Amino acid sequence: MAKQIQAIRGMNDILPEQTGRWQYFEAVIRDLLASYGYSEIRMPIVEQTDLFKRSIGEVTDIVEKEMYTFDDRNGDSLTLRPEGTASCVRAGNEHGLLYNQTRRMWYMGPMFRHERPQKGRYRQFHQVGVETFGLQGPDIDAELILMTARLWKKLGLSQFLTLELNSLASNAARAAYREALTAYLREHSAVLDEDSVRRLDSNPLRILDSKNPAMAEMLAQAPKLSEYWDEESRVHFAELCARLDAAGISYVHNERLVRGLDYYNRTVFEWVTESLGAQGTVCAGGRYDGLVEQLGGKATPAVGFAMGVERLVLMLEQLDQQSLPREVDVYILAATQDAEIPAQQLAEQIRDQVTGLRVMLHCGGGKFAKQMKKADQSGAELALILGTDEVQNEQVTIKYLRQEKAQETLTYAALTEVLGALVAK
Ligand code: ATP
Ligand code: MG
Repeated sequence: MAKQIQAIRGMNDILPEQTGRWQYFEAVIRDLLASYGYSEIRMPIVEQTDLFKRSIGEVTDIVEKEMYTFDDRNGDSLTLRPEGTASCVRAGNEHGLLYNQTRRMWYMGPMFRHERPQKGRYRQFHQVGVETFGLQGPDIDAELILMTARLWKKLGLSQFLTLELNSLASNAARAAYREALTAYLREHSAVLDEDSVRRLDSNPLRILDSKNPAMAEMLAQAPKLSEYWDEESRVHFAELCARLDAAGISYVHNERLVRGLDYYNRTVFEWVTESLGAQGTVCAGGRYDGLVEQLGGKATPAVGFAMGVERLVLMLEQLDQQSLPREVDVYILAATQDAEIPAQQLAEQIRDQVTGLRVMLHCGGGKFAKQMKKADQSGAELALILGTDEVQNEQVTIKYLRQEKAQETLTYAALTEVLGALVAK
């Protein structure tokens, strides 16, 4: 036998048994984004490598060790996108969507990072990203957070998620803090792990984000970023908190929340859960007022977030609270061979007449009992049976698969009514 080819490690097939839950999630989030007036943008999956180096930052986990980068046939260095914000800004600049206007956009799709695969962490994973441009106040930051809170409520996940919030303040404030932090870390260099030593000069704030328990105590005593906040950032943060308070959204101010990408300033936030083990962040974002200019556009304030679809679908699965909607309403079968063509015709006719109804035609023949078993397994509400008599009399026999109700034989006209009522349910 020929050797089977396997999927790439960390890149998953999403199987028919699972897609129902994905589609449910996608439908809920589409409706939610529409209800806030956001528009969808779709970007390519591959970009020039420089786009990510310049935006995410050279000394970050993503750029240092996680990107899928390759030379194409022309020798150009390309990268499978590890996230969407850089592409979205690139597209916005390229098509003049950002300058002197406001934009509220979203996208959904696969991202690629070469990480160690484990539960909730994959090499191809999916994000829903939301990005807004041209708005600098805490009002839009609050809108984004309110929107995510509403999503958790709709999905039944609110009680499992906590909001963590911080401000990275202005570039100048962060630079002053960086100096103080670096000095402190140097004093404690004996406790620093290898990654942290390397980051000490290039990206010391990221050391705060370390999950290494051996450094936890030392980091807890480190100088606090909030002690270095500039006045404007302090007011911005206070106003954001006031809006969250007014909306009844609770949050934790996490001084060590710095995010893994270089482009953030001021507001940063994460929604975290205890229910997924180590991969606890399901949604993360913040303000990135400098990025548009950094990527060649005119200075434009911006704020956004991205959520990990796999992690959220895992949470929904664990809850199992979302019983999946049925995928087939009606299963049509032929009790006798002479009814096979009429059965196929009937299926087509019903699809013409009853919009929204999901009709599955039995294919492959077989004994009646076996066909009925398939009808039951399909999850359908009704089986429609055609045999010699039904065809001759232009009638159909209905068997109710989920109710204690005797089967009945109806005319086509009466059938259409029964089926119409099924769509409404
Ligand atoms: P983490 O700390 O878990 O590595 P991150 O800070 O690298 O996350 P972001 O770049 O902020 O993640 O991406 C936003 C969200 O996308 C994350 O909160 C998470 O839900 C999801 N995500 C990120 N990387 C992965 C991955 N490899 N597999 C599955 N989901 C992911
Ligand atoms: Mg990561």
